[in-house]
Amino acid sequence: MLIIDCEKCIGCGVCEAECAFGAISVQDGCAVVDDNCTLCGSCVESCEVEALLIEEGAVQVQADINDWSGIWVFAESRHGKIAEVSYELLGVGRKLANQRGVQLSAVLLGSGVTESAPTLIAAGADKIYLGDDSTLGQYREDIYGNVLEFLIKKEKPEVILAGATAIGRSFIPMVANNLGAGLTADCTGLAIRAEDGMLLQTRPAFGGNIMATIECPHTRPQMATVRPKVMQPLMPDLERQGEVVSLSIPDRLLESQVKVLENVLEEHNQVNIQEIEVLVAGGRGVESEKGFKLVKELADELGGAVAASRAAVDSGWIPYAHQVGQTGKTVCPKLYIACGISGAIQHAVGMQSAETIVAINRDKNAPIFNIASCGIVGDLFEIMPLLTKKIRENKAL
Ligand SMILES: Cc1cc2nc3c(=O)[nH]c(=O)nc-3n(C[C@H](O)[C@H](O)[C@H](O)COP(=O)(O)OP(=O)(O)OC[C@H]3O[C@@H](n4cnc5c(N)ncnc54)[C@H](O)[C@@H]3O)c2cc1C
Repeated sequence: MLIIDCEKCIGCGVCEAECAFGAISVQDGCAVVDDNCTLCGSCVESCEVEALLIEEGAVQVQADINDWSGIWVFAESRHGKIAEVSYELLGVGRKLANQRGVQLSAVLLGSGVTESAPTLIAAGADKIYLGDDSTLGQYREDIYGNVLEFLIKKEKPEVILAGATAIGRSFIPMVANNLGAGLTADCTGLAIRAEDGMLLQTRPAFGGNIMATIECPHTRPQMATVRPKVMQPLMPDLERQGEVVSLSIPDRLLESQVKVLENVLEEHNQVNIQEIEVLVAGGRGVESEKGFKLVKELADELGGAVAASRAAVDSGWIPYAHQVGQTGKTVCPKLYIACGISGAIQHAVGMQSAETIVAINRDKNAPIFNIASCGIVGDLFEIMPLLTKKIRENKAL
């Protein structure tokens, strides 16, 4: 428990402000803690007069914490095809594994997926745990969860990364819960702290107003889901050598409560903005559905697609599938042209890793200029037609 020494406490309230769980309040000049305390220790660190102390033994550290080693990536596959996010995770996983001086492994489950194993090695994995079984062909969270949990308990990796996709989001929390491990969902940044090898997991918090860095110091494995299109895959190296370990999975783990009656592939003719190399995005500054015609013209001229801020989507000028940002899609195109978009953090988290960002905005102080590679200050209704015309002329040369 948290011990408070009222003789030392000066009632300054710093700990109260520091506590993210609202567990401390200052009453009659001394800090008081309630049941919401998670023993995270941030109040202890903030107290200049050392009036707070976490009782020895109060924090349960997993007994075998130092036995866990290696970075793992869950390599998601659908209909026999490896999801792009798996390669992105191997890209960041490789860096983390090099820093830790450990192996990078991928867990590949599915039916008929064996031939995909070399692509994961080329993308950075040292070892593939391969479960190729007809029962795994159809994603079912209980079976996938059982198999991953079984493997984790057997091999004891220190870090597990998975895509923050419909699949990753559905079964990774279940595995974390069963293992009693910490999980940070929807990470946008991962790093290793040099001093103690801790995984630092960064994600937007409090409605995207701050970026929080989360660590799980007391349990293993450290688990994180990562948004697609945030991390960069490595260039495939076809010469890379790796080991493929074929799993023999006990039958009981392949028993499911779920019976899949039918698979229906969603049919839509919308472009997937996550796969497009040039995006021209419109925001509130575009003013109307009609204004988006200018955005579309420029996008068409560049062979790209149209994206949008939430303000534009909420105004009904363009469908949600085009929304970029925290509650939309994360994109990483070669070129992102932001037109009439202020660059709020919730938008920026979805596009800031674009290779080149061009911003058109009439407000020279708009935050979008802080992340833009090139900025044009002016009225988009004048600039965009000129830009489209110029590109058209250049193409005709
Ligand atoms: C929990 C949460 C989640 C969110 N998720 C998202 C998300 O996923 N994506 C997202 O985009 N937002 C998201 N938001 C909203 C976000 O905070 C901003 O409100 C939103 O991004 C603003 O959109 P905007 O930049 O188009 O509009 P504004 O902030 O209103 O900016 C409009 C810009 O256009 C410029 N402008 C106006 N007229 C012209 C002109 N004629 N020529 C040139 N420039 C002009 C203005 O100077 C201004 O900078 C979220 C908010 C919350 C709280």
